[in-house]
Amino acid sequence: MEEMISKLKEKYRVFAPKRFPNGSIRYGEIDSLSEIVVDEKSHFSPKEVYLPIVQTVFYFENSHCAESKLEDDREILIFARACDINAIERLDTIFLKNGGNEDFYYKRLRDKVNFVLIECKDSFDSCFCVSMGTNRTDNFKGILRDGKIDMESEPIFVSENKKSVTVPDIDESLVKDVFELEYWRSFDENCAGCGGCTAVCPTCSCFDTIDVIYSETSLDGERRRVWGSCMREDFTAMAGGHNVRKRAGDRMRFKVMHKIYDFRQRFGETHMCVGCGRCGERCPRDIRFSDIVNTLADKVKQLKAEGGAGV
Ligand code: SF4
Ligand code: SF4
Repeated sequence: MEEMISKLKEKYRVFAPKRFPNGSIRYGEIDSLSEIVVDEKSHFSPKEVYLPIVQTVFYFENSHCAESKLEDDREILIFARACDINAIERLDTIFLKNGGNEDFYYKRLRDKVNFVLIECKDSFDSCFCVSMGTNRTDNFKGILRDGKIDMESEPIFVSENKKSVTVPDIDESLVKDVFELEYWRSFDENCAGCGGCTAVCPTCSCFDTIDVIYSETSLDGERRRVWGSCMREDFTAMAGGHNVRKRAGDRMRFKVMHKIYDFRQRFGETHMCVGCGRCGERCPRDIRFSDIVNTLADKVKQLKAEGGAGV
């Protein structure tokens, strides 16, 4: 198997969920299939492979500017579960189809990505992929099975989860009422605004751009793209101190509505959330996205019955 990976590494950078020295299970390059953690869900998603946490987009020197280059030009092979493979299609929508322009920095890595499927024989406690329709995929080149890569067999997918989620059916006439629900105010206190949930989410795509100047007196430096989080208070802070989403509940509303309403309204077909459940596991306040969506579904039902807000 070691030989197989070293052969693969001639053509691919090979990434899989592995345990790091601090105990965290994250995506990293592997030298052996035995490094892959398959019996636990990774704490972080594979998105950091094709959407790096920090990415230099260009370098500047006085008035000259030079595009960053990929340090390694090999193809990329990622061992991933069905939900995470589906998640890359959500990011494709954001970075390749949104606004009619393809994002160059995303595309140059994305075009190299190939998947090997990690089968989920049983789903983990917090997963709700079946409710989100992301428990299956055909976007893989092989299956990780019995410690090797199987190119022949049919994949096994889960067909039920312990958690199920009802995504509320919100028609446009109800959006304002949903926006004004008192429910969102409960997160003003409960949510710490740490952004942990968005860091582990395979479909969160917000980033910030920062310029790094190499020294106080130089005109040389680089522009970097760095993951951002709509859950953090400074995300919508503007010059002059104005902030459109100052309260944690407003930010929660924005995130939840993006995941299960806005994305589909704008792009059609799927919702953004793939039901991986990582956000709830990461949250220091035990806020579960699945619970929020189910509560919202109840409230929307009630709104429809009552024909107004106030629930
Ligand atoms: S369950 Fe949470 S972390 Fe997973 S895709 Fe949905 S919002 Fe993102
Ligand atoms: S991880 Fe929890 S506390 Fe932190 S921003 Fe997300 S929902 Fe709020």
